[in-house]
Amino acid sequence: MNTVKENLEILKFSYRFTKEQNIPVYAIFLFHAISEPLPAIFSVWFTAKITALISVQEPPHSVLVHAFIGVTLIFILTIIKRIGEHFYFKKIDILTVKEKAYVSDIISKKDYALLEKTDFQLLFKTYDEVASNYGCSVIRFYFMFLTKVMSGFIGLVLSLLIILPSLKTLFVFDNNTFITSWKPAVLTIICIILFGIIMGITGNRLANFWTKLHEETQSSYSMFMYWLSFTENYKQGKDIKVYRAQKLIQQEYDYWQEKSLKLTRKTIKKIIPLRRIIGIFTGLIVGTLYSYIALRAAIGLLSAENLVAIVGAVPLIINGITQLSNLPFLTKTLCKYVGYLKRIADYDSDRYMGTIPVEKRDDNDFLIEFKDVSFKYPNTDTYALKHVSMQFKIGEHLAFVGTNGSGKTTFIKLLCRLYDPTEGEILLNGINIQKYNMTEYMSLFSVVFQDFSLFAVPLSQNVSTSVEYDNKKLWRYLEKAGIANRVKEMPKQENTVLYKELDDNGVEISGGEAQKIAIARALYRNAPFVVLDEPTAALDPISEFEIYERFNDFTKDKTAIYISHRLSSCRFCDKIMVFDNGQIVQFGTHESLLSDENGKYNQLWNSQAKYYISKVE
Ligand code: ADP
Repeated sequence: MNTVKENLEILKFSYRFTKEQNIPVYAIFLFHAISEPLPAIFSVWFTAKITALISVQEPPHSVLVHAFIGVTLIFILTIIKRIGEHFYFKKIDILTVKEKAYVSDIISKKDYALLEKTDFQLLFKTYDEVASNYGCSVIRFYFMFLTKVMSGFIGLVLSLLIILPSLKTLFVFDNNTFITSWKPAVLTIICIILFGIIMGITGNRLANFWTKLHEETQSSYSMFMYWLSFTENYKQGKDIKVYRAQKLIQQEYDYWQEKSLKLTRKTIKKIIPLRRIIGIFTGLIVGTLYSYIALRAAIGLLSAENLVAIVGAVPLIINGITQLSNLPFLTKTLCKYVGYLKRIADYDSDRYMGTIPVEKRDDNDFLIEFKDVSFKYPNTDTYALKHVSMQFKIGEHLAFVGTNGSGKTTFIKLLCRLYDPTEGEILLNGINIQKYNMTEYMSLFSVVFQDFSLFAVPLSQNVSTSVEYDNKKLWRYLEKAGIANRVKEMPKQENTVLYKELDDNGVEISGGEAQKIAIARALYRNAPFVVLDEPTAALDPISEFEIYERFNDFTKDKTAIYISHRLSSCRFCDKIMVFDNGQIVQFGTHESLLSDENGKYNQLWNSQAKYYISKVE
C-alpha cells in the first residue's frame, strides 16, 4: 500500500501530467466537485427558509418574492452545475487519448537499451495490463474518483454547515421524558459515527476486492486480448487461413475469457453481501435519525423550519459519506496504478548521455575505432561480441559477412550507441563516443535494419520521417532506391498512404518495395554513415542487382557498411570483415580473403559457390 507521502507524490505527478498536456483539468474538476452538490444543498436551505416565512405568517406576496428569488438561484446553480458537468465529461474523455500519447511519447524518448531491461519491461507490462483493464487510462479513473471524493467532502461539509443552526436545536434537552433527554441524541450521534466507520471499513474492503480482482485477472485478460488481436489484425489473416488456426485462436481466447470471467464472478459473489450490509446499515441509520427527529417534532421540540432543514440534509450527508467511502479505492488502488505510470516516466537510463557536441563537417572526416570491444546483451550471460578491435577510414565501403548470430547486427547497434560496450571503448575521431551528445551522435547514422518498420502514413512522410518534406530531394532518393516508378503509379503518388490500417485507400506494398522505401528513407537523412543490414533479403534478383549497382553511387562520399549473407554481393566493397562467433576473424579485400584457403571466408565462399554450381549442373 502507498504511504501518504507516495500518494502526495502521485497527486503532484498527475498535476504535472495535466500541465504537460496543457489541459486545465484540476480547475475544471474542482469546479465540478464544488458545483455538483450546490443546487441540492441550496434547495434544502431555501425550502427551510420558505417554511420559516410561512410559519411566522409572512404576507403571501413576500413569500412569493422569496420563492421566486430562491427558484431563480436554484435554476442558476443548476445551470452552473451542468456547465461544470459538460467540461468535466469533455476533459475526462480526453485524458484517455492524452495518456496514450503521453506513454508513447515518453517511451519513444527513452534510451533504447533501457527498453530491454527486464525490470523496466515488467513494470511496463504491469502498467499496460492495468491500463487495458481500465479502458486504456489509469489517469482517467484516478481523476474520476478524485473528483467523486472531493465532491463528497465538499457536499458533506456544506450540508453540515447549512443545517448547523437547526442541528443545535436537536441538542436542547429537558429530562422529563426519555425522548427529551440527552440519551437518544447521544445514541443518534453514535449511530452516525458507526455509519461513518462502517462505510470506511466496507469502502476499504471493496477497494481490496477490486484490487485483488484486477491483479488476478490482469494476466488472463491480457492473454485474452493477445489472442483476440489475431482475429482483428488482417495482416495475420493469411497465416490463420492457410494453417487453419481459427480453432486454436478461438479455443485460446475462450479459455482466457472464461478464466477472467470466473474470477470476476467469484469477486462479485463476495461484493454482493457487502453491498447488502451497506444498504441495511444505511436504512437503519436513516430510519433511526428520522424517527428521532419526527418524535422531537411531534412533541414540539423542533420547529417546522428546522425539521425541513434536517430531513432535507440527511440524504445529502449520507451521499457525501458514500462518496467519501471511495477514498480507500482512490488512495490504495488507483494511486498504485498511477504510480506505475509515474515510475515509467521517472525511470531513467543509467547510461551516460554525453555532452560534447558532434562536430559538423562538410568533408565527413570521421574516423571510427573499436578498441577491444566486448558486449553482452542485458540479462544475458554470453558475449555477443568478443574483443573486437578495428578502424574504418572515411569514405570506406565495408561489407560484413558471417553466419547467423555471429554478431554483425550487434556491432552496428554498438556503433550507433543503441547500447554501450560491456568492455572496451568505441572512439569517434579519438574521443569515446559516450562523451558525445547522444542525439547528435546518433544522427550521424542512417541504418536500414533487417526488421525496419514503415508507418501507415503517406509514403513521403515515411521517407522524410516528418510531416514536411523536400519534394525534389524525396524523388531523387526514391529514384536512387529504385522505387520511383512504382510510386508514380500509386493513386496519390508520394502522398499515397501506406497500408490500410488508417486509410481505406491506403496501398499494400510487397516486402521488397517496403525495403526500397526504407533504403530511400536512409538516404534522405543524408547522414555521413550509411548502414544497410541485409538490404536485399526481400528483393528479387533484378532489384538486388540494381541496389548493388547503385550502392557505390548513393554512398559515394559516405562511410558505408553493407551486411549480407550473399558473399557475391559484397565483392564491390573496399574491405570485407568476416564475423564468427562474436569475433572479427578476417579483414581484407575479397581477393586477399579468398586466397587464405583455411580462412572462414574461403569456407563460406566455397559453400555458397558449391550450392550455385550444383544447381546449375
Ligand atoms: P547477426 O547479425 O550476425 O545475425 P546478431 O548480432 O543479431 O547476429 O546476434 C549475435 C548474438 O546476439 C546472437 O547469439 C543473438 O541471439 C544474440 N542477440 C541478438 N539480439 C539480442 C537481444 N536483443 N537480446 C539478447 N541476445 C541477443
